[in-house]
Amino acid sequence: MIDLPEPPAPDGSVLARTLLIGMCGTDREIAADGYGVPPPGEERLVLGHESLAEVIEAPEASGFAPGDLIAGVVRRPDPLPCPACAADEWDMCQTGDFVELGIKERHGYGSERFRLDPRFAVRLEPGLGDLGVLLEPTSVLAKALEHAERIGARAWFDPRVALITGAGPIGLLAALLARQRGLDTHVVDLVTEGAKPRLVADLGAHYHSTPVAELPLEPDIVIECTGVGEVVIDATHLAAPGAVVALTGISHSERAGEAYLDALNKDLVLGNKVVFGTVNAARRHYDQAADALAAADPGWLARLITRRLPRENWPAGLEKGPEDIKVVVDMTASTSEHESRVASAGRPEGKPT
Ligand SMILES: [Zn+2]
Repeated sequence: MIDLPEPPAPDGSVLARTLLIGMCGTDREIAADGYGVPPPGEERLVLGHESLAEVIEAPEASGFAPGDLIAGVVRRPDPLPCPACAADEWDMCQTGDFVELGIKERHGYGSERFRLDPRFAVRLEPGLGDLGVLLEPTSVLAKALEHAERIGARAWFDPRVALITGAGPIGLLAALLARQRGLDTHVVDLVTEGAKPRLVADLGAHYHSTPVAELPLEPDIVIECTGVGEVVIDATHLAAPGAVVALTGISHSERAGEAYLDALNKDLVLGNKVVFGTVNAARRHYDQAADALAAADPGWLARLITRRLPRENWPAGLEKGPEDIKVVVDMTASTSEHESRVASAGRPEGKPT
């Protein structure tokens, strides 16, 4: 931890106090492998792209008021901006000159306070409390599902069965959104016991630990969350005619393997199947994610946060335990302050998943 100056005014008119920071594989890559890029001319990069904060100051015209619970958008438009960024679809940026807070050329939210433009602040239902820290990862799945539906809408499309490959935080949030759409949802992962199968079952979804190729399913929508090449190919073959397969995971391995590429091509052509990649989220996907979290069972969401670290111990979040799903860092000043906030945060009860 280091001392930083107060957040600069040009960062935006909304001043916020950071409550929680969620950690993920990207933070581990930045810390361990030097994946991130500090702001120009600086040696350090403040981490933290999964944020939860409370507004301290905001002009009336911003639509925000002190006490509002918010999360910040990660990617910011390229300076040009390209046509996609100009349309608030910075997730589809054409130039690659965007910045990402806590990842690429802009400090993240892992400071006590930050400023941001209201355009990049996302309002959370106050009753969500700490669960609002799940907004950023949820926005990634809101985009994956919305794009899958938009692609499916090119022709008759009546998706009923969803397959989610991987039951980490991304896979579990994908399963949540699939269930909220009423899809018969199946999640496949390697583990055979523990929190993941129970979390899947408690959504009313089905958990499998059999190889993807052997699943007795014909999914209409696949959300691939492992980034493993064989899983991608097997899930594509498994998918129903006209299915849409969303790839959300990546692997940094340079593993080569044997694949029947002509058979894959034939299957895609004769099955009218679409495989597409998706990363990050546009402004509207953050709002969709905020609605999805507000509609979810808060007890289920709370079980995704398996470890909470005081800010002094944040590096412990870079190590992921076998039962860890989402690790969060408490950015508030003291333990007692944190406890009083948790006690006063009323959570809605009896909401459907
Ligand atoms: Zn752009």
